[in-house]
Amino acid sequence: MANDILVIAEHRDGKLKKITSEAVGAAKMLAESFGGSVEIALLGSGTGSLAQDLSNYGVQVLHFDDPKLADYSYDACGQALVPLIQNRDYAVILLGATPNGLDLAATLGARLKVGVASDCTGLRVEDGRLIATRPIFAAKAIARVALNTKPAIATIRPNTFPAAEPSDGGSVEQVACTIGDLQAVVKEVVIKATGRVELTEADIVVAGGRGLKGPENFKLIEDLAEALGGAAGASRAIVDAGWIEHSYQVGQTGKTVSPKLYIAVGISGAIQHLAGMSSSKIIVAINNNPDAPIFKIADYGIVADALVAVPMMTAELSKLLVS
Ligand code: FAD
Repeated sequence: MANDILVIAEHRDGKLKKITSEAVGAAKMLAESFGGSVEIALLGSGTGSLAQDLSNYGVQVLHFDDPKLADYSYDACGQALVPLIQNRDYAVILLGATPNGLDLAATLGARLKVGVASDCTGLRVEDGRLIATRPIFAAKAIARVALNTKPAIATIRPNTFPAAEPSDGGSVEQVACTIGDLQAVVKEVVIKATGRVELTEADIVVAGGRGLKGPENFKLIEDLAEALGGAAGASRAIVDAGWIEHSYQVGQTGKTVSPKLYIAVGISGAIQHLAGMSSSKIIVAINNNPDAPIFKIADYGIVADALVAVPMMTAELSKLLVS
């Protein structure tokens, strides 16, 4: 039995997304337990150089190059991947827990009639089965899910698995695919360029909440994020208040982030906010109320007026990081 692990690569604007290297890292770890090898499926149009880049992980890259795969579409990707997966012997299919990854995992799960575990923060193999760890109920509980199907499909939370290191021995195989009429086609992709690192991929996130007092002060969050080379985020309270757009929102109804450092500024720490950031490695809270719930999960707490403390931090960190 081959028991291979297939990673579905994710890319945008001619660049591989960071989650792909993390998925390859997780796949290599699983391959040791399953005894199979790792393969990466790359779907796109004119993506030959990305396929070569992926082969630097020392694995076989299965390259689907078709104009119908130019923009992500669950249907086109599903039509390309299902025959491949049915004809090969994969133990696990891994994707990122990103909007596209979650969408495609559900498509593949439904079309192949196999189990899917979403937003996994841990993966291991027990008695030949994939055991996935995933936060549930707004991260109030952790579920361990055993997947009994072959293949099993899992999406991994960004920033939770170590990225794969480059190694020798990789190759690229061109895979022919027949993609018929699509149930839905992408008409337009609207991307708001921020010039900054993407929130879900950032190693450092600085997020602001209602303690900022007004929309004009969100700049303090952006300045600190920029000084640290990170991304800015927000609580829902200030998104609902119209201070900042929804793409910044962290939490149950916003984005899930898992950075190395999360700085929560003027955020009380409601459970719905924690759902989106509690798996951050180090949490720093800045709040003028020493009893704010955010301090219960913070590694470091600063009791201070954010409007005073944040500009001071930005100024001092800028000096330190420049010198
Ligand atoms: P507040 O709770 O008002 O907290 C403001 C904090 O700022 C307080 O702790 C206060 O002490 C502090 N403060 C005040 N002045 C200062 C100052 N000068 N300096 C420093 N600190 C100061 N919320 C999310 O964030 N994300 C979600 O995805 C989300 N989804 C939700 C889904 C549902 C179904 C529901 C019901 C709610 C959801 N919420 C979500 C809302 C959540 O319950 C909270 O209302 C929200 O997170 C509060 O935002 P906040 O911490 O900015 O505001």
